[in-house]
Amino acid sequence: MAIADLRPTEDLLELRARVRAFMEEHVYPNEPVLNREDDEADALVARLRGLAREAGLWAPHLPPEAGGSNGSFLVYAHLNEEIGRSVWGQLVFGCQAPDAGNGEILWHFGTDEQKERFLKPLVGGEVRSFFSMTEPEVPGSDPTTLRTRAVRDADEWVIDGHKWFSSGAEGAAFGIVMAVTDPDAEPHRRASQIIVPAETRGVEIIRAVPTMGHRGRGWTTHCEVRYTGVRVPVENTLGEVGDGFRIAQKRLGPGRIHHVMRWLGQMQRAFELMCAYSLEREAFGEKLAEKQTVQNWIADSAAEIQACRLMTLDAAHKIDQGDEARVEVSLIKFFAARVLHDVIDRAVQTHGARGLTDETPLAGMLAMARGARIYDGPDEVHRMVVARRILKSFAAGDGWRFE
Ligand SMILES: Cc1cc2nc3c(=O)[nH]c(=O)nc-3n(C[C@H](O)[C@H](O)[C@H](O)COP(=O)(O)OP(=O)(O)OC[C@H]3O[C@@H](n4cnc5c(N)ncnc54)[C@H](O)[C@@H]3O)c2cc1C
Repeated sequence: MAIADLRPTEDLLELRARVRAFMEEHVYPNEPVLNREDDEADALVARLRGLAREAGLWAPHLPPEAGGSNGSFLVYAHLNEEIGRSVWGQLVFGCQAPDAGNGEILWHFGTDEQKERFLKPLVGGEVRSFFSMTEPEVPGSDPTTLRTRAVRDADEWVIDGHKWFSSGAEGAAFGIVMAVTDPDAEPHRRASQIIVPAETRGVEIIRAVPTMGHRGRGWTTHCEVRYTGVRVPVENTLGEVGDGFRIAQKRLGPGRIHHVMRWLGQMQRAFELMCAYSLEREAFGEKLAEKQTVQNWIADSAAEIQACRLMTLDAAHKIDQGDEARVEVSLIKFFAARVLHDVIDRAVQTHGARGLTDETPLAGMLAMARGARIYDGPDEVHRMVVARRILKSFAAGDGWRFE
């Protein structure tokens, strides 16, 4: 695939321009209200979602037959360079994590009944969901160690376990819970994914776990959840029993690249703020833009952002072609997480104390960026995946070709 082929077509440029215009008219000016995360902010989100739907820009992560407006990863990557610029963009366009990933696995693995009952209201934006895999007692990096159990009793699963970082669980209608269904199976066949309506008896949200001083509200929470004798019908199993890891892989691959696509928007916004402010602010008789340190930050950021863009578009294109793109997704996940952090950090530094205030979006962006190196697999695990694959290929005498 030539790099030129990853560039947007005329139609996509037009669509992207509409998304940008929507962001400029409806999202950026409303960020101060949205950031308050109160009742007024919730009402505003609902109104903006209605406008996004009317504009035909709703749920661009799913094809029209699933209730969305797109379906190509490559197109979605380009759109996310706009949507991702604001933390609120994904919620406004109905493609927010973790609902987007949950929607995709329900679309690919759900039965007709599951699609009708859970996917339809999810894609329609009537309800939210959560994904409940990580547990405080065992390393999330190695989910073969999960302890949450689902034991079959006639036509029901009985689930007992303790999770945390179930993002968005507060106020969600249902969760997809990863639970061990066969402890004696080989490690990657032990677990299944089970859909659990939030109101089921025995589901208890213990607390929203504050991260970096932020408790969050509703969609922005990261919840500790306990499951005690939770009974759901076996029809709520997603895919086959024992498919938990296979589906997780299907979910997390695209989910990771969704995150990276949004980070491209965040990086570019921080970069623009850094450039603009450096041309405005003077110190020691010259603009900050004239100082070589700042020029180095701008040049390094430009190079790194463009590298991230091209790696992301390439991975998105490969996924569109049916490739799992395991190496490409892991490469971009750890590389872009670092670039995201560094570019925002340089932009904060350029702004001096102002960079830490709420007068720019940078401080909030920096706080959010730190988690990027941990969620959906810490950097170290993605480096391990990449290095193992490359070394395996070398050990087999095939070397490694960059394609
Ligand atoms: C903002 C945020 C949102 C999240 N949302 C969700 C969610 O919605 N649902 C969900 O289930 N989970 C969620 N998570 C949890 C996330 O997926 C886990 O935190 C992640 O998988 C790491 O697991 P852990 O925190 O248990 O760290 P551990 O697995 O205990 O790892 C701790 C550290 O050990 C090091 N390490 C681990 N393995 C290796 C290795 N092989 N080589 C070298 N070093 C290693 C890394 O530095 C790592 O950071 C979220 C996390 C965050 C921060």
